[in-house]
Amino acid sequence: MDLCNLNDIRALLGRHGFHFSKAMGQNFLIDAAVPQAIAEGSGAEADCGVLEIGPGIGCLTAQLARRAGKVVSVELDKRLLPVLSETMAPYDNVSIVSGDILKLDIPALAAAQFSGLRPLVCANLPYNITTPVLSALIDSGCFESLTVMIQKEVAQRICAAPGTADYGAFSVYMQFYTAPEILFDVPPHCFTPQPKVTSAVLHCPVRQAPPVPVGDRALFFRVVRAAFAMRRKTLLNGLSAAFGSQLDKARLSQVLADCGFPAAVRGETLGLAEFAALTDRLAEQLTG
Ligand code: SAH
Repeated sequence: MDLCNLNDIRALLGRHGFHFSKAMGQNFLIDAAVPQAIAEGSGAEADCGVLEIGPGIGCLTAQLARRAGKVVSVELDKRLLPVLSETMAPYDNVSIVSGDILKLDIPALAAAQFSGLRPLVCANLPYNITTPVLSALIDSGCFESLTVMIQKEVAQRICAAPGTADYGAFSVYMQFYTAPEILFDVPPHCFTPQPKVTSAVLHCPVRQAPPVPVGDRALFFRVVRAAFAMRRKTLLNGLSAAFGSQLDKARLSQVLADCGFPAAVRGETLGLAEFAALTDRLAEQLTG
């Protein structure tokens, strides 16, 4: 059986009485070159344990199983479990975990499944939960890299440079913890059913150390959120809305001047180093 052949997929799913669920973000790949290129892009090798989210009928799972030491695939849709036990039968290094990736204890799963292996993530993600899934995977601190197919616009936002329209708090978060890079685009006709949007494969090697020194990480991300909360306003107004009860506008204005920023600077022009410098100055004022 060819797991990317539309006729084979229809026959398989028909036999199992399966119908696609939009709510679960189900768009299955039907172009064999794509899962091959995603698995290749993940860098999975024999010494790796790969966590996959949403295997569907297993076309990417099979490509990962050929490269990695072990593949653990978390699938929410119970109707796919009998399908996967049929399609994954040839692979003895694949385990299917029935569950919701957003409710699983990821560190516990990684510890139980990937001991002695380099843990990676590789997945064609359900697009409606891209942001919470990426955040949970990064916050788990378990993985060397994440290679995910997501909506192209979201991939562009994650990789965006300061001062561009795509740049936002999630760009800063992803670029702080990883070094994201778009590998290639995948057009709608590579899937069944076809999604309305173009997709892109994003490779995110997780940083071993922060790209800029940050004393108070929680404060850093509070500053970032404040900077983007009111995009059309100045950074001073954004900071004032978030920190106004602790520091008056004159003090905040002085903090910006101390950082060497123009008075009317906008938050979306700041890079990681500028946000780090701002965080340190604010921390001094907040504790001083
Ligand atoms: N990897 C397959 C299918 C991708 S579609 C392919 O490329 O062809 C997305 C998959 O994620 C579906 O199988 C869907 O059932 C599953 N899914 C959706 N929400 C999920 C969740 N919260 N946790 C785990 N899997 C989920």
